[in-house]
Amino acid sequence: MTSSDAPVLPVADGGRAAVGDTAVTLEGVRKRYGDVLAVDDVSLDVRAGEFLTLLGPSGCGKTTTLRLIGGFEQPDRGAIRIDARDVAGEPPYRRPVNTVFQQYALFPHLDVRRNIGYGLRHAGVDGREIARRVSDIMELMQIPEVGDRRPRQLSGGQQQRVALARALVMEPRVLLLDEPLGSLDYKLRKDMQFELKRIHREVGVTFIYVTHDQEEAMTMSDRIVVMNRGRIEQQGGPEEIFDRPRTAFVADFIGDTNVVDGVVTSVEGDHATVDLGALGTVGGSLATSLGVGDTAQVSIRPNDVRVEVDAAAAAIVEETVLVGGHVAMKIACGETSVTANVPRGKGLEPGTAVRLDVDSERIRIFARERA
Ligand code: ATP
Repeated sequence: MTSSDAPVLPVADGGRAAVGDTAVTLEGVRKRYGDVLAVDDVSLDVRAGEFLTLLGPSGCGKTTTLRLIGGFEQPDRGAIRIDARDVAGEPPYRRPVNTVFQQYALFPHLDVRRNIGYGLRHAGVDGREIARRVSDIMELMQIPEVGDRRPRQLSGGQQQRVALARALVMEPRVLLLDEPLGSLDYKLRKDMQFELKRIHREVGVTFIYVTHDQEEAMTMSDRIVVMNRGRIEQQGGPEEIFDRPRTAFVADFIGDTNVVDGVVTSVEGDHATVDLGALGTVGGSLATSLGVGDTAQVSIRPNDVRVEVDAAAAAIVEETVLVGGHVAMKIACGETSVTANVPRGKGLEPGTAVRLDVDSERIRIFARERA
């Protein structure tokens, strides 16, 4: 963290926002770096008090979007409003937002209390008030005992809590979080996901969170915004995004799935059947409008494939991997191979001929995507 990123003025008035307020609006925002269109015509409303996650693969533009909201970058086009106020040209310290980065870079020479109170001191808040607010936030973060320690005397998880405390003690209207759990190990990351959810619920501040980890996004978010190549691909609640992805890209990115090419053979309302070649014909719901004869992509989740031994079947188990409570199986079927999750102990060794049945209720059919 550079000194310009440190939490300084203004100290927002805090308190819970009225439900239904819009905390942040992006309208037709665009940002180009040379030849790269990092953010391409993004429009988005973030509701006050919401936990919103920007999710997507590396390079999709999520960090740039966050930096534009934070004021670390300025858009080439479009408007950004925070609390209905246009913040064009305003530097980070004038915006009622605070940011927690993956590299949280606490001040090594200051103890935890001084690290957390730094922004308040800078803002000229009275010493007793600082002490009270720092104590309160340390309680909330469940680190009341580490106040006198220096950052190097803390675990990674504790350092992350101090970084969060330092940002939240300023009572920002919006907290921006850029992959804040990225440097923690798996177990600690899982624990911190629940912690972040609790903290969000207790403080009622709007959280805008950036991650490429779909599991993290699913666990914590009220709403997920999936980005791809600088654009919003889909936004919605975690279940909606998982159950009703609108594109093969989203289906593939959120949770494991098999994306198989085929040709539409019949259409009835929003239901269609698709010929998948050696995998046979499957039925499912259309994510986009398609006609008979169109090429399509079909998303089949590994959990929705049933596998039965059948010596007469053409599909052959290629590989099996134990994943926690189930076995993930790669199955060859003609030119195609699909992954299926089956319960442990089914005794399906590589080389076994199997029949595949797919739960058509859960299949999604998309138009073929650009390469
Ligand atoms: P990651 O998860 O890897 O951080 P991201 O989705 O956050 O990726 P961004 O960091 O927003 O993606 O980058 C979007 C695109 O803009 C990328 O192609 C990136 O290389 C480019 N980019 C970002 N910042 C700059 C910069 N300061 N100068 C030049 N190009 C940049």
